[in-house]
Amino acid sequence: PISKLPDVGTSIFTVMSALANEHRAINLSQGFPDFNCPEPLVNLVTRYMQEGFNQYAPMAGMPQLRHKISLKTEKLYGYRPDEETEITVTSGATEALNAAITAVVKPGDEVVLLEPCYDSYAPVIRLCGGSPIYVPLVLPDFSVDWDQVKKRISSRTRMIIINTPHNPTGAVMGKQDMDRLANLLSGSDILVLSDEVYEHMVFDGKQHYSVLQHPQLRERSFVVSSFGKTYHTTGWKVGYTIAPPALTKELRRVHQFITFCTPTPFQLAIADFMDEAAHYLELPSFYQAKRDFFVEQLKQTRFEVVPSAGTYFQLAKYSDITVAYDLDFAKQLTIETGVAAIPVSAFYHNKTDNKYLRFCFAKSEETLKAAAEKLAKV
Ligand code: PMP
Ligand code: GLN
Repeated sequence: PISKLPDVGTSIFTVMSALANEHRAINLSQGFPDFNCPEPLVNLVTRYMQEGFNQYAPMAGMPQLRHKISLKTEKLYGYRPDEETEITVTSGATEALNAAITAVVKPGDEVVLLEPCYDSYAPVIRLCGGSPIYVPLVLPDFSVDWDQVKKRISSRTRMIIINTPHNPTGAVMGKQDMDRLANLLSGSDILVLSDEVYEHMVFDGKQHYSVLQHPQLRERSFVVSSFGKTYHTTGWKVGYTIAPPALTKELRRVHQFITFCTPTPFQLAIADFMDEAAHYLELPSFYQAKRDFFVEQLKQTRFEVVPSAGTYFQLAKYSDITVAYDLDFAKQLTIETGVAAIPVSAFYHNKTDNKYLRFCFAKSEETLKAAAEKLAKV
């Protein structure tokens, strides 16, 4: 058999977006904004292209961009990563996650995942010969049961992957979670991969708590972020990883052979635009307004929602509507009702169905309103 991942199908994001397009449904499935990124950012990219910045960037990332990332990290999280030895620019968070896992996970290693979780983690672990060890998040608020995590840690555990704010549930971890994690790991050589791509989407006056704020965790962690989420540019695929020098060295050994580097004009444009701190400082209220609008609109439907604490996703429970399996229901909604969403079972290795759909609210109010009006008919 030629396949290394025989049980892995096409990603649910591809499947649902294609179905939405085929049936001209309103696409609240795959996470991406339906509005454009800031115009000055587009102008900067254009300018850099016209000025001839169209060749390879340095493998670790443009120094200008690493410098800005370093300054921003210090301002937000009180820790200034070294630009030369601790910051690597990657082609999206997806590449960063792949490079971090590939750099350190060996055959026979175990990696703890908290389910539901993002779909790229487990396949990469398996391609490295490692085994994902799944610990379920606890309903209804999808919190972490750290005692369960502790039980699943063994002498083979190489890494734990966390994600806050959390895709698909919107759950947000606090300092207490990080303290528990740090206690669990203390005295071990277990690494942390912290997926913080939604760091600027935390609502209701709460603050994102980054692993970078926690000295004991920071020294054993890869922290991953994505400019795609922050600047409404998911199609540009620019992200980065912050990790201590020894881990960064390993990550770069792999990164240089995945993509080698990330497109130069995008890096330069983002580096300049990062001076506009207002953009990311206003992102929580920008997205909270969208969440509130969407949640309000959903009141005319039979979906049950608890407002999302972070990310640009809103979970909705549909058990008052049907007992259908969530994937079937999501397809039916797309085809018959004209609204596409992501079935949350897609984020569980055994496709657990808790009767939740995930809706992306990174959309204009007109889009969200039109979607809710359609959903009110089911
Ligand atoms: N991690 C999570 C939790 C995500 O939701 C996403 C975006 N879908 C990624 C990583 C990948 O980010 P990027 O688009 O920058 O590769
Ligand atoms: N992260 C996006 C989501 O969760 C999708 C990214 C992708 O399509 N691979 O919807």
